[in-house]
Amino acid sequence: MKKISIIVPCYNEQELIQLFYEAVQKVYETKIVPIWPQYGLEYWFIDDGSTDNTLAAFQQLAQQDLDQVHYVSFSRNFGKEAALYAGLQHATGDLVAVMYVDLQDPPTLLPQMISGILEEHYDVVGTKRTDRKGEPVIRSFFSNAFYGFINAISDTKIERGARDYRLMTRQVVDAVLNLPEYNRFSKGLFSWVGFKTKYLSYENQDRAAGHTHWSFLDLVSYSIDGIINFSDKPLALASFFGLASFIIAVLAMIFIVVRALIFGNPTVGWPSMVTIMLMLGGLQLFCLGIVGKYISKAYLETKHRPIYISKTEK
Ligand code: UDP
Ligand code: MG
Repeated sequence: MKKISIIVPCYNEQELIQLFYEAVQKVYETKIVPIWPQYGLEYWFIDDGSTDNTLAAFQQLAQQDLDQVHYVSFSRNFGKEAALYAGLQHATGDLVAVMYVDLQDPPTLLPQMISGILEEHYDVVGTKRTDRKGEPVIRSFFSNAFYGFINAISDTKIERGARDYRLMTRQVVDAVLNLPEYNRFSKGLFSWVGFKTKYLSYENQDRAAGHTHWSFLDLVSYSIDGIINFSDKPLALASFFGLASFIIAVLAMIFIVVRALIFGNPTVGWPSMVTIMLMLGGLQLFCLGIVGKYISKAYLETKHRPIYISKTEK
C-alpha cells in the first residue's frame, strides 16, 4: 500500500484541529479513495510549543484514529519553519503534503494536486493565491514589493503569492531534508531544490477560527530573512554605495577648488557640509547593518544548533 503524508504545523490552534482533520478526512474518503484506492493516509501534527490545549487535541485525535494520526511536540516555540522541517523528517509517505491547520489551504484541492503528480508527472504541485481579498492594502503593497525585489536580486525565483501548501514526491522531500541549514526560509528552499513544479491558483480564504500569528513587523523581518538567505547582492550594494559616493566626492572637490580659484574663498557652506556628512554617515551605518546581518546568519549556522527539540511525554 502506498501512502500520502499530511504535515500540519500548529501553534495555539486547539479549536481547529478536529475541524481540520474532519475536512481532510472527508476529501480523502469521498474524492481520493475512489480514484486512488492504493493510497493510504497519515497525519503528522506538529505542536510548535503551543501554550493552549493543542497537544491535548492531538492526543484525543490520535486515540480516535490510532493508525493514521501521529504527532510531535516541541519543547518550545521554534517557528513554523522548524515545525515544517520536523514534519518532513517524520513523514513516511510516498507523497507528502504541507498544510496549515486554519483551513486557508482548501483540502478540496488535494485530488487535483495528486492528479498533477500521478497523472501529469509533476514532482511538486504548489498553490498560490489569485487575490489578496480581505487583506490590508498596505500589506499587499509590501508583499508585492518583496516578491519583485527578491526575484530581481536572487537566482532562486519565488512564485508570487505562493503558499506553503504543496504536495511533493518522496524525492523532493529528501532533497529538502538534505539542506541542513539552521536559517530556513521554506519558500526559497522549495524553489532552490528545483524539480518540475505546477501551481494551482485559488481564491484567498479566511481563517476558520483563531487568529494569524504574524504581525506586520514579523512579516517584514521574515522578508528580510528571505532576501538575506537567498541572495548576496545586498553586500555588493554596500560597495556600490561606497564607490558612488567616492566619485561624487571627487567631482565635488574639483568643483570647489576651481570655484575657490576663480571667486576667492568665502566661508559659506557649512549647512551643505553637515547634510553631506549625515548622508554619508547614514549610508555607512546602513551598509554596516547589511554586513552585520550576513555575519549574524553565518554565526548562527556555525553553532550547528538543532532546528528543533522535541519533547516526549513522561
Ligand atoms: N505556526 C507554527 N508556529 C508558529 C506560527 C505559526 O507552527 O510560530 C503555524 C500555525 O499554527 C498555522 C501555520 O503555521 O497552522 C500558518 O500560520 P498562520 O495561519 O498564522 O499564518 P498566515 O496564514 O496568517 O500566513
Ligand atoms: Mg493562515
